[in-house]
Order: sequence, then structure tokens, then C-alpha cells
Amino acid sequence: MKQIAIISGKGGTGKTTITAAFASLAENAVLADCDVDAADLHLILQPDIKSTMEFKGLKLAKKDQEKCISCGKCLEHCRFHAIDSQFNIKETGCEGCGVCEYVCPTNAIELMDRISGHAYLSETRFGPMAHAALKTAEEASGMLVSLVRNNARQLAKQHSRELIIIDGPPGIGCPVIAAIAGVDLVLVVSEPTVSGVHDAERVIGVARHFQIPAMLLVNKFDLNLEMTEKLEKFCLENEVSLAGRLPYDNVTTEAMIASKTVIEHSDGAFSQTLREIWNRVLENI
Ligand code: SF4
Ligand code: SF4
Repeated sequence: MKQIAIISGKGGTGKTTITAAFASLAENAVLADCDVDAADLHLILQPDIKSTMEFKGLKLAKKDQEKCISCGKCLEHCRFHAIDSQFNIKETGCEGCGVCEYVCPTNAIELMDRISGHAYLSETRFGPMAHAALKTAEEASGMLVSLVRNNARQLAKQHSRELIIIDGPPGIGCPVIAAIAGVDLVLVVSEPTVSGVHDAERVIGVARHFQIPAMLLVNKFDLNLEMTEKLEKFCLENEVSLAGRLPYDNVTTEAMIASKTVIEHSDGAFSQTLREIWNRVLENI
């Protein structure tokens, strides 16, 4: 089984548009939306949810008021400012570190499971899909990404699928590391802007750190040819293969409004270029 992760140093580079297009080009794949903080692949693929599971992320401290003697030790030691002046625990601030439970002299505090989100197993018109939603203000998205990836692997086994296509989170933090760990290839989708170049360099650095082969796709390359060339030069100097360039094209917005992938929506030049890029990516896996 092979796995490819589509990532970007920052959000809004067209990563999900590319992932959805690949979903419609792949013939034997499972899809995994690992952008759990801001999942949007489902808007295009419209999955039919077959199974839902609770995700228990960070623990949550709960206080038994009857046992509390208002000594203030929990407030004194909580580094996350999650305890108010009345020694009540603020649910949204608690990181579940357990320090308050440890220091409380009367065992008034206990760490409990908290439901931080849900993971889903679904069917789409392109095959099985694993995805998830994190509740508002919840953390531990790296753990949820790992759960989605495990679910995707299970789906691939159940359905005898040979490829997992992962829509990764933006950035270079823990969720990205969870999304790319152990994959066969990362495709970095970048835009030719100053921040785009900077973010692409950082995320390629993360892939390199984990010794994962990387390819670069420059989206909207025609907005700044100089920056595009700078990006591609950086890649060539750092053994990152070039997957190709995509121009700015309204067809991506039109497809999204129609809840379709670009490939479904149009067979024009943009889609043809995407097909060539997909074939290049497949050759590198
Ligand atoms: S578990 Fe940690 S973060 Fe939560 S209230 Fe206790 S000390 Fe603060
Ligand atoms: S440490 Fe325990 S007893 Fe002291 S204020 Fe906090 S909850 Fe109450």
C-alpha cells in the first residue's frame, strides 16, 4: 500500500482542490482528509457517512466541590490559567496536564475523558474516505490526524485499495508531522509569493527531516513568474522533484461552487495539465 500526502506551508494554496482532483483521477484509492482543524474536502466529495466514532483527545480536569477546601494550590500551579479565582476549572483553557490533580491535598480533582471531536468512515463517488471534525476550541489535532490515518489504512485493507491520498493540514506543526509520517511521497502545493516561497521551504525542510521524498507543484504560477522560478530553483538545488505548474484559472472556483472536482467539471487545459501532474506524481511514488 502506498501513501501520498498533499501539503502546503500555509492554507489557501489550492491543496484541497488538487487533492479532490487526484481523487477523481485515482483508480484504486482511499481518501483521507487530515486537515482536521478546517476540513473541507467533504464539501467537494460529499461523503455518505457510514460510521462515526468519538475522539477523546486531551483529558479534562473536573472538581468535586464537596471535597474542595479552597486552599488555592490548583490555581497557583496551573500554568495554563485554566482555574479562576473561585478555584473553578475553565473547560476551554484546561490542557489536561494533571498538575492540579497532583497538587490537590483533598483529591478533589480528577482527570476525565473529554470528547474533542468525531472521526468518520464514509463512502464517496471516488471510493472510501476517512475524515474527522474537531470541536471548536479543541486541541490535540495531531492525535486526531493519526486516528484518521489509521482509519484510512483500515479502509484500504477492507476494500483492497492500493493507494491512500491524504489531504494534509497547513503549516509545519504537529498535525503536519502526523499527516506525513511514513508516507511514500509528499506533494507540496505552493504559490509564487514571498510568503509562499518561505512556507514551501519550511515544509520541504520538515519532509527532508523525516527523509520523505518531496515534489513541488506551483499553483497560480503565472501570477509571478520570477517567484515561480525562485521556488523551482530552490527545489532543484534541494533534490525536490518538480511535479508541474498550474495557472490561475476560474475553473477551480466554478468547480467548487458546483461541488465537483475540477476534473469532473471541465476537460479543458487546466484539467489536462492536472492529469499530467498526477501521472508524474504516480511515477514518483
Ligand atoms: S489539568 Fe492542568 S491545565 Fe487543566 S486545570 Fe489542571 S493544571 Fe490546569
Ligand atoms: S487544590 Fe483542591 S482543595 Fe485546593 S482549591 Fe484546588 S480543588 Fe480546592
